[in-house]
Amino acid sequence: MASATPILSATGITMEFRGFVAVKDVTLSIREGTVHALIGPNGAGKTTVFNMLTKFLTPTRGRIEFRGRDITALKPAEVARLGLVRSFQISAVFPHLTVLDNVRVALQRPSRLATQFWRSSDVLSRLDDRALELIDAVNLSPYAHLPAVELSYGRKRALEIATTLALDPTMLLLDEPMAGMGHEDIGRISDLIRRIAKGRTILMVEHNLHVVEDLCDRVTVLARGEILADGSYDEVSADPRVREAYMGT
Ligand code: ADP
Repeated sequence: MASATPILSATGITMEFRGFVAVKDVTLSIREGTVHALIGPNGAGKTTVFNMLTKFLTPTRGRIEFRGRDITALKPAEVARLGLVRSFQISAVFPHLTVLDNVRVALQRPSRLATQFWRSSDVLSRLDDRALELIDAVNLSPYAHLPAVELSYGRKRALEIATTLALDPTMLLLDEPMAGMGHEDIGRISDLIRRIAKGRTILMVEHNLHVVEDLCDRVTVLARGEILADGSYDEVSADPRVREAYMGT
């Protein structure tokens, strides 16, 4: 359920690379329970903002808060333990391990959930139960015993999402989850995102505007390192500055 409370907020974040200002004074607020898109033309600063929010980069200036806590100085693993997890780069899939073993490995990473497992006496069976639950959640049950390398591209990405969910995130950041996908996989991953969004907040960088319109409650548009517009898809797509900068119309 969406609420007006921000779960993640950035205030005046700026990133300079040796004097080049890639992102300038960005103030951004992601409401709890929403699916929020970050869009903009190439070079707009989306990846840099993403990296700052997940602490892969520390802003030159500004402050980031997650669930009311200042995370500006924390490391990526520390913010992941707080429940803010980024997909598609921490969750490298091991190609020769089966789907089940990939999720087992992910469940054994240090996380809030893993701590619960270590405390229990029947660690392995609980771990397997949880792994199978996650595999089912991403519709990969028929492939549980298949090496990841044999999965289609879209299913590999579904597996990556399962390994990310193993970290028990409150908020997920997805970096172009549909990149390189055909129509069918886009539909499958869209359904999956809709399902995992229940009870979670999602921020995604996405180029495909049909996906953004279809999936996202709110959209922030970046251009030349600054926020150009922020609002619903209809609001931002009607903004003439956005049309000019982003859509070229
Ligand atoms: P986007 O993801 O929207 O395409 P980026 O965040 O990747 O944009 O890049 C924004 C700008 O910052 C670009 O001009 C890019 O060349 C520059 N940039 C990104 N990372 C670095 C870096 N590590 N060093 C220098 N410049 C960078």
